[in-house]
Amino acid sequence: MGHQRPADAEDQLVFATEGEDAAAADAQYWTILVVDDEPDVYTATCMALRDVEILGRRLRFLHAASSIDAFELLKSHPDVAVVMLDVVMESESAGLDLVVRIRDELKLAKPRIILRTGQPGYAPEMRAIREYDINDYRIKSELTRTRLFTVLTAALRSYRTLDAMEANRSDLQALLEAQTELLGANTMPAFALGVLERMGMLFRVPGEGLFCGGGRRAGDFDEPPRVVAATGRYADWSWRRIDQLGDTPEAHAVELAFATRRSVHAGGGLALYLPSRTGSDAVAWLATVDLGHRLEQELFELFVQNTAGAADGVRLVERLRDAAYVDGLTRLANRSALAETIDGALRVPPDGPMRLLLIDIDQFSELNETFGDRIGDALLHGVAARLEAGAGSAVRVARVANDTFAAFGPRDALVPADWARRLDPPFEVEGLQIGLSVSFGGVEFNRECASGGEAIKMAYSALKRAKQTGHRSVAFYSHEVATEIKERTRLLHGLRQAFDQQHLFLMYQPQVDAASGRVVGLEALMRWRADDGRLVPPDRFIPVAEQSGLIKDLGAWAMRSAIHRAAALRAAGHGLRMAVNVSMSQLLVPGFEQMVGDALDEGGLPAHALEIEITESVAMQSPDIVLPKLGALKAMGVGVAIDDFGTGYSSLSSLEKLAPDRLKIDRSFVVGLDAEGGGGSIAEMIIDLARTLGFKVVAEGVETLRQRRRLNALGCHELQGYLFSPPLMVDDLPGWLAHAALADSDVDAA
Ligand code: C2E
Ligand code: MG
Ligand code: MG
Repeated sequence: MGHQRPADAEDQLVFATEGEDAAAADAQYWTILVVDDEPDVYTATCMALRDVEILGRRLRFLHAASSIDAFELLKSHPDVAVVMLDVVMESESAGLDLVVRIRDELKLAKPRIILRTGQPGYAPEMRAIREYDINDYRIKSELTRTRLFTVLTAALRSYRTLDAMEANRSDLQALLEAQTELLGANTMPAFALGVLERMGMLFRVPGEGLFCGGGRRAGDFDEPPRVVAATGRYADWSWRRIDQLGDTPEAHAVELAFATRRSVHAGGGLALYLPSRTGSDAVAWLATVDLGHRLEQELFELFVQNTAGAADGVRLVERLRDAAYVDGLTRLANRSALAETIDGALRVPPDGPMRLLLIDIDQFSELNETFGDRIGDALLHGVAARLEAGAGSAVRVARVANDTFAAFGPRDALVPADWARRLDPPFEVEGLQIGLSVSFGGVEFNRECASGGEAIKMAYSALKRAKQTGHRSVAFYSHEVATEIKERTRLLHGLRQAFDQQHLFLMYQPQVDAASGRVVGLEALMRWRADDGRLVPPDRFIPVAEQSGLIKDLGAWAMRSAIHRAAALRAAGHGLRMAVNVSMSQLLVPGFEQMVGDALDEGGLPAHALEIEITESVAMQSPDIVLPKLGALKAMGVGVAIDDFGTGYSSLSSLEKLAPDRLKIDRSFVVGLDAEGGGGSIAEMIIDLARTLGFKVVAEGVETLRQRRRLNALGCHELQGYLFSPPLMVDDLPGWLAHAALADSDVDAA
């Protein structure tokens, strides 16, 4: 007979067959039990069927010489497929009695029974044949070799059907269980592993294989399917694209299955095609699938259908999960996902110390207002990308609120300064260069945090505290921080009230010409007298005002007051320049230039008599924001001074573009001029730089004669500091100015 192709149902299983399957069926036998008290009958039967193969299998014979032996043998060999049973042995009814015991006592329903009798004419009752499910009844002499073969084949075929039905019942059971279990998987890889395992169960082989999916329908070659799960010998194939699986039988079968959208049996395994309603078909490859295994077409299709349906379900769950755990804009983890990650770390504490950092963009809402949502979103994308690029595998990056990002991981990997540096270079958005700074709120991760959600809250209060300090700030959570935050909140409350009740006022500090000592300008400095009479320094309340948005009103008020004061002094004969400090958040308020222009008109002050001071870091931070604003002010005739110069980082080219009227050397460099020898070299450099670029220089915080002399020698243009005057109350101004003018005329007279 030779090698026989598996017949029937198995054939239909294969939709597109490549080559012949090497059926491992050769190794399997049909077990035939010959029960006969004449040993010759057994020997003859064996001889007759020695080399015969039926339905793809060889035969294996067992012999029992009595019904009692037969009973015992069957007990230990329940896999007997056919019993060839002598009717008359110890007794006339020994054969039929055995049949009763096989069916009733041993509960063996599957073995086919062929009754053989040596005595023609003796026939069991038809009732018995039906009742005990006897397959055939033959007279021994009738059974020639050919006849024997035919009878046995018929019996084995019906045995096989019964066996398949029984096997399928348990397969069906497994399938149904598999379905519910598989639906419990909430990620595709987990589901895919489950499918491979179930396929293994179904085909009775180890579930060694690949699950490929995730690609988009043909026509979109952007995203070929990938190996979603890989087991056994394929373990390291995980996440490879299917077009990168190399020249292997597995790859060919998988590709063919995707291409033909049918299951493929080839290369010793099965590539099971799983269609999808949502357009992301999958193929599961199972190695060493023997199609000789009886698997009904119907069951097979049920499996494919159910698995494909379950896959769609899991994809849906994954998408929903995605929506619940992934930030829609940046694709980073969102707050819930971060909280869960931290919860996980609380359950299974990692080895080293961990830290949670919140990273918040300073003044993002103003940036957004200035440039519009589209550019704002692009900035968030840019920040997300840089954070992720710098994170490393141990750090989880998330976006927890509009412009607030988070990083959770080993403490060493979460040093704020490192992260700030990554965000320092300006972002290129639609041809614009936009720089931004961030502030950090951190919490050292420990058992004190009861949950991820709470850890995030603690980090938030640290962030709040950092924000209150100003831009580019860092704060870590502690109990003091919590108290501090309360205090700050009280401060903001007080500030708001003070502003409403007009308890804020301006003081004016003179600026003098270095060479002549003549007063040339005044700087307006804000003051707040608290209820207890103490003066709250601006360094303390201005950041609070900036953070709360109160700075807009505060700044506009200061601008108007200073302009009115300058106009009044001008009317009284003091034609002085008025310098007003402006912070980044004020500059960012849309319509800031307009507000200044209106204030000048209202106050009746010529624009050139006003100078705004912005700090170096503000000036350099976002040239694309600052330059147009300053350009508009300069076009009106308003002067610009760079405050605290030397403390930030300026590039020559941006300084040139900015073209300020004045640089103000920060007080810290002026202090150095007191030192003997080389002290003050920075002041010297700044003055040289300003001269080269054609800007004027003002030295801040001049307190000593020695400083004044050295600044004069270096060629500094103007001076400001306690040496000349502290900031003055409005009421003291006329007197001081009159006195100064008098002193001036003294100098002139001398
Ligand atoms: P600034 O613009 O650099 O102002 C100079 C600061 O140095 C002022 O402090 C002034 O009182 C102080 N100062 C002046 N001469 C001397 C001196 O000889 N020795 C010492 N040790 N200090 C001197 P103040 O008034 O406390 O203001 C601090 C900062 O607050 C200002 O620095 C400015 O950045 C900000 N500020 C003040 N008023 C306003 C305002 O109206 N709007 C904005 N946005 N910021 C303001
Ligand atoms: Mg200033
Ligand atoms: Mg300054």
